[in-house]
Parts: sequence; C-alpha cells; structure tokens
Amino acid sequence: MAEKRDYYEVLGVPKTASEAELKKAYRELAKKYHPDTHPDDKEAESKFKEASEAYAVLSDAEKRKQYDQFGHAAFENGGAGGGFGGFDFSGFGGFGDIFGDLFGGGFGRRASSNPNQPIKGANLRTSVRLTFEEAVFGCEKEIRINTDDECPHCHGTGAKEGTKPETCTRCGGSGQVVSEQQSLFGMMRSVSDCPTCRGAGTVIKEKCSYCRGTGYISSSKLISVRIPAGIDEGQSVRIREKGEPGRNGGPRGDLLVEAVIEGSRYFSREGTNIFSTCEISMTQAALGDKLHIRTVDGEVEYELKPGTQPGSRIRFKGKGVPSLRNKNVRGDHYVTFMVKIPERMNDRQKSALLAYDEAMGGTLNNFGKEKPGRKK
Ligand SMILES: [Zn+2]
Ligand SMILES: [Zn+2]
Repeated sequence: MAEKRDYYEVLGVPKTASEAELKKAYRELAKKYHPDTHPDDKEAESKFKEASEAYAVLSDAEKRKQYDQFGHAAFENGGAGGGFGGFDFSGFGGFGDIFGDLFGGGFGRRASSNPNQPIKGANLRTSVRLTFEEAVFGCEKEIRINTDDECPHCHGTGAKEGTKPETCTRCGGSGQVVSEQQSLFGMMRSVSDCPTCRGAGTVIKEKCSYCRGTGYISSSKLISVRIPAGIDEGQSVRIREKGEPGRNGGPRGDLLVEAVIEGSRYFSREGTNIFSTCEISMTQAALGDKLHIRTVDGEVEYELKPGTQPGSRIRFKGKGVPSLRNKNVRGDHYVTFMVKIPERMNDRQKSALLAYDEAMGGTLNNFGKEKPGRKK
C-alpha cells in the first residue's frame, strides 16, 4: 500500500482548521474530482476518495482527536485496512447535505433511489433548414426523425411474449447490493449497483425477439414543426415529449429543432434588422429617381433624392424581422445605395461625360490631353 498522505495535507488546510474551513476545503475538492464529472478517470476517482476519507475522519470530532494523536495508525488495526474504499456516503453525517448542495440532491441517487421510479426520456436534437423568408415569417415544416417507441410485443419490458421480467433474486428488486465491513468506527456499509441486474431490479430470462430485449423499437417518423416568425440562426424550437421514451412510465424527452437559415441573395440580417444594398447609376444618384426596392414584404416604391451620395443609407421602418416575443413588433430594413460607375464607355458616352465635366468647370487634369485629337 502506498504511503498515505496526511489528511490535513489532502484537504490543504492547517491542523488548526475549523469545521467550516474543513467543509469548505472538502467541498472544493469534491467538486473538482467528483466521479460524475470525471467518468472513468481513475486518478480523479482516487483523489475524490482520498479527500472523502480525510473529510470523514476530520469532520468527526472524536475521530479527529484520535487522528491528531495517532495519525493513520489510529485506524489501521480495525481490519478495515483503509477500508473507506466504497463506503456509504449517505450514511455518513455531513455528506448528505454537502452533496445536496453540490449536485442538487443528485449525489447518491443511484445508491438510494428506486430503480422503478419514472424517469423522463432523453431529449433529442435535430435541425431544420429554412430560407431567409421562412425564418422571418415563420412556417410549418415537416421533419423526419428516428425515435424509439415501446416495443408492442413485450410492451417495453424486453421479455419474450407471454413472460415477464422477474424480480432479481440477488438484490431482491432494489437494484443495489450492500456489503458491510467491520471497522474501528463501527460497521462500514458500501452500496453498489447489483451486478446481476445492473441496477434494474429485474432480470429477463428470455428476451423479446422483436426488440432483442431492449424493450424499444426504433422507427422513422414525420413530425410537423411550427417555426415561429423571427427565429434566428442557432435558435431551437422545443416540441414537448417528442424525444426518446421515458422509463418506468416517465414522460418522453423533448425534441429540440435547431434553425439553420440559408443565406439570401438580397438580404442579410442582424437580430431583427434586415440589410440590403441597392445599386443606382451615377445619373440616378445625381438627378434622383423613382425606385422599386426589394424588401421581404415585396417591392417598395422609393423616391430617390437628387444628389444621393454613394454609401448613403435609408431606413424602412417596420420592414425588418418580427420579434420572436411579439410578431407585430418588427425591426427595420436598412438600404445602402451603391453608385455604379461604368467600367467601359463608348465614344459617345465619353464625350457626353467630358462635356458634362466641362460644364462643371473642368475637373480633369490629363484625360485626353496626352492623346490630342481624341477630344472633338
Ligand atoms: Zn420487445
Ligand atoms: Zn439485482
């Protein structure tokens, strides 16, 4: 057996530590190394046990006194041999409330709960593809999912038709086995899942051949999902009790459908606001014009002001995305004007533009001057 560490050292507290300090130190270690958060991690498990053992001793005034006087030797001759290995946490004063605080009363659930109590099924996650407009206005979608259902042949028991699961004789149906060891502080109880029925409390002699004893049959089904107006990328719709089946008569889990929204050719979105660009010609920008601008509600007529600058932005109030909370409240739609500069011009267009430039007082420095004759 490896050298045992000093209990105070394990908890990282001085020998003079108060009860509250011990408890605080232990809580931190227990949280850090709890097996529920480190499944299959042997090192965390042994750290957790080490801290639990140290706390079990030091939190008990009588045992702490013995330990302070004799060290580990105080507990080594009781035949327990460091037999804290798997002791019954729920029976130890102090543990119940510590774990109650830490894990919402969940600790020791396996060791004390009835294996036959109803348990809600697992949630199921899937996603649905939506167009930009479907997300804005909401829609009804059919999605296909695979879920388990109770096997109709064995009614979920997993036992062959005409037979029933039998109460486990090893644990008497409790799903747990308790072993007791004599130690210096009295009887040490250790509780674990029954190895015969793996905690179920029942055993199946002959398995149902339809579900291979699982009690469930998986099938694909179409489910209709109402997508609310205003849903955004990554948000989910929860459909109650369409997830995996519960156990022992517990309700099904929920189905969570996450929105995956396709990009739009015309629009982008930030929260409830919509953004788009509108391309106009130089002439339209300078002279103004009547435009038809695309919004999610269709085209909107817009009177473009003469002298509109490139990059200037207008707002269509209430043409954005409905709020998820109240679809009558909508964001806005912002339109940015892009002025299109011609990439190529023919001679006629060029001379018109040169004439325009001349009329504006002549802003050109060199154009045409290097090639005389070009200018008519
Ligand atoms: Zn079956
Ligand atoms: Zn059993």
